[in-house]
Amino acid sequence: MSIVGVIGAGQMGAGIAQVAAQAGYQVLLADVGLERAEAGKAGIAKALDRLVTKEKIAAADRDAAIARIETVGHTSGMAEAEIVIEAATEREDIKRAIFEQVGRVLGDDAVLASNTSSIPITRLAQASPDPARFVGVHFFNPVPVMGLIEVIRGLATSDATVARIEAFATALGKQVVHANDAPGFIVNRVLMPMLNEACFALGEGVATIRDIDLACQLGLNHPMGPLTLADFIGLDTCLQITRVLFEGTGDPKFRPAPILVKYVEAGWYGRKTGRGFYDYSGETPEPTR
Ligand code: NAD
Repeated sequence: MSIVGVIGAGQMGAGIAQVAAQAGYQVLLADVGLERAEAGKAGIAKALDRLVTKEKIAAADRDAAIARIETVGHTSGMAEAEIVIEAATEREDIKRAIFEQVGRVLGDDAVLASNTSSIPITRLAQASPDPARFVGVHFFNPVPVMGLIEVIRGLATSDATVARIEAFATALGKQVVHANDAPGFIVNRVLMPMLNEACFALGEGVATIRDIDLACQLGLNHPMGPLTLADFIGLDTCLQITRVLFEGTGDPKFRPAPILVKYVEAGWYGRKTGRGFYDYSGETPEPTR
């Protein structure tokens, strides 16, 4: 049985652990301590319970998936893993420290992958024991629902590493696209300028929040408007990725919209803080402008 290590048991790490366990992998799940890893596992159990209630999976499959997830208190527990996926907080210092720690125990043939949304893979690979076995594997949120994985190779990533991560993605039932190690990879490179432009349009008084969102929903046939989506992703995250695009390319077309910066400065991050472009305190989200 193949063993996969997942470091970081937040929304992405827990999602990755869940789909890997459902696909039959043994999963070692770590976070800053055992307690956090266990909280992540408890969240997975709840998510699987909901799937059982909706009759999407059988109770026996839920039980088998949960039994395949072992929480570990420290990355030293990852020595047995053939693939280790880092899904910790989006901070380079944190990720580097993790790669150095896990690098001490990583198997000679094991692949180390990062789920980073924005940090260059080639740079992160420098903190790993073997850049040829280091790769970007960008899942989408929520992981059990979204069918895509972007595979990003750093300058030193080997073909064998890419092939192994592709086989893993396929085993999870995900479609793979390949991106070079460029700022934002594919999806965020295309998406963030659109969300940022919606913020410029709002800030310049082109239209209201409701009308910008409704226009894109009905006029572009998007499932949700750009300001709703930005609130869902988190305005802090949108700003951070937009800054990576701006700084990484030096191209002024990626400069963050002033209103996006202001909202983040105000602590209005979107759904997760109860207020962004919409107010989430009532039954239904209400536009704030
Ligand atoms: P999150 O805040 O939900 O989870 C991050 C987890 O990392 C937390 O549980 C935290 O305790 C843990 N952590 C922090 N330091 C750690 C350490 N030293 N060792 C082990 N665990 C540690 O964040 P998230 O949304 O799950 O994001 C995780 C990663 O996935 C980030 O790199 C992010 O850019 C990327 N990502 C996020 C999304 C998204 O939509 N949220 C999508 C794709 C990729």
